[in-house]
Amino acid sequence: MFKSIIVGAVCSLVLFQAQAQNLYMPRDIQHAFNKGTRAMDGKPGKNYWQNHGRYNISITALPPERNIKGVEQIFYFNNSPDTLKRLNMKLILNIHRPGVARFGSASDDYLTPGVQVDSIFINGTKKPWNNKQAANTNQMIGLPKPLMPHDSVKLDITWHFEISKESGREGMIDSTTYYMAYFYPRVSVYDDYNGWDTLPFLDAQEFYNDFNDYTLNVTVPKNYLVWATGTLQNANQVLQPEYAERLKKSFTSDSTIHIATKEDLAKKNITTQNSTNTWTWTANNISDMAVGVSDHYDWDAASAIVDTKTGRRASMQAAFLDAAADFHHSVQAGRHSLSWLSQNWPGVPYPFPKMTAFQGFADMEYPMMVNDSHTDDIGFSQFVQDHEIAHTWFPFYMGINESRYSFMDEGWATTFELLIGTSEVGKEKAEQLYKGFRVNQWIHDRSTAEDLPIITPTSELRGGFGNNSYGKPSLSYFALKDMLGDDLFKKALHTYMDNWNGKHPIPWDYFNSMSSGSGRNLNWFFNNWFFSNGYIDLNLQKVTKATGGYMLAIQNIGGFAVPFDVKITYTDGTTTTFHQTPAVWEHNQKQIAVNIKTTKTAASVVIDGGIFMDADESNNKWTAK
Ligand SMILES: [Zn+2]
Repeated sequence: MFKSIIVGAVCSLVLFQAQAQNLYMPRDIQHAFNKGTRAMDGKPGKNYWQNHGRYNISITALPPERNIKGVEQIFYFNNSPDTLKRLNMKLILNIHRPGVARFGSASDDYLTPGVQVDSIFINGTKKPWNNKQAANTNQMIGLPKPLMPHDSVKLDITWHFEISKESGREGMIDSTTYYMAYFYPRVSVYDDYNGWDTLPFLDAQEFYNDFNDYTLNVTVPKNYLVWATGTLQNANQVLQPEYAERLKKSFTSDSTIHIATKEDLAKKNITTQNSTNTWTWTANNISDMAVGVSDHYDWDAASAIVDTKTGRRASMQAAFLDAAADFHHSVQAGRHSLSWLSQNWPGVPYPFPKMTAFQGFADMEYPMMVNDSHTDDIGFSQFVQDHEIAHTWFPFYMGINESRYSFMDEGWATTFELLIGTSEVGKEKAEQLYKGFRVNQWIHDRSTAEDLPIITPTSELRGGFGNNSYGKPSLSYFALKDMLGDDLFKKALHTYMDNWNGKHPIPWDYFNSMSSGSGRNLNWFFNNWFFSNGYIDLNLQKVTKATGGYMLAIQNIGGFAVPFDVKITYTDGTTTTFHQTPAVWEHNQKQIAVNIKTTKTAASVVIDGGIFMDADESNNKWTAK
């Protein structure tokens, strides 16, 4: 047995060396692997580390006053082997400042003075701060004494900001409904492959956060309801008994409990009748907190079993305008999302105790929350809500760096969106939506930027940002699923998810985990999909009679290793479909011969990629002369 173990070890070494040679790896990433913080078997390396914060945040929002006040205490733990002389703070709401760098233009209603820090203390010592100077979304602050490895630093910060009249991912929804996200100064990620994350937030590319522990206190006037990330700690204190009871009941209820209806709200007696109430939420090991407040939003809730082994339920809640018909379906649609995604794809139990859908304008995910716009199409609203809830696993459960590798979260949310959509509206309709929404525009756009390799850092993309984040990577996940089959693909995906949940995986960790988890060296496939300028255009060059059937000569003009169907119509009018997985491209990604076994005479042959839409379908068909 000893010998076979050695042989096995040598084999896997050879396999992983082959992987190292095959896939291009930038020098900063190579450096991380050399330091042993990442490993070629796909797991975190033996020297892996990540930093951590403990945040105690209190904010006061007194609508219609738009000025929000905050005070927070942060304990930041340096788990890295490095001595940190400075901390990089993220001040995301500075995106509202006039003059800050951003991708698009901003209207007057979007502009505010940004984050205004009133005071900052580091380990109890007041630190000078210049709000004029700290105008960007990153601000480095020097530490009075260096933060040593395995030591921590305490920050006490008071700040205020004006909530913007125009709402994007956060902001004012109406004069007495606010949605607050990215609202507190936080320490940015310091990691093993890049050091401090100093990429500016430009209102396009998204976020990258440490896993922190949070206590969040939200003070609002009486008759205001609050929804936030985390577990509400004091429902009995802030809600009148009847409403606290309804909330509690919803935690074990399949059917929707209307915690606060339009009629209830009109009575103005849902909350405790102090002049203000402070709602307290906690969440541990989570990447962010978001909050919605309103004095006139309906509140629905129910719950769903998300872990069939333990019977664990997760709460599904919705907060919305009574007039929004689609949102009256939100809780039941959300229950379906939570349980379906938990049990099917990704097939990992929903990792949080709760999800809240809040009506806004963002169509955006936050841990345990989504902020979606109202639409008149209930089916489309469910489609968007499914997508945002699916983000729970990527980027939140998996700690994805969205600002550099958005294909690692948007690509998966787009993939799960089609899979759950199929369960809701059927394959044909779901695929039609996917093709129309995620593939069609890209495949018919000849722009250079659209065909940049998926691995291109998201932070460097402008044109091509959307399709490199959503449709193209999603197609690569579907192509791999097709090639491996559902069982092996899920085994590999779960290997990746087990390796990296609660951590910060990068694309090479995904590639290596999928190869290890499937027991196959998939580098040729990842090289093809992630590191090439590929697109999809197959050319059925020739169909010739061969022994026992036909031989098809197929040229891969676009280059991507796609699955496709060969549909043959015979002279007797019958049709047969022969499915080809991407494995047909393993040894030659330009040109292949496909042998079709049949005793019948072919009248016509069509190659059809289904969701893998072809840029030029005119060369996909052959007709017998
Ligand atoms: Zn998304």
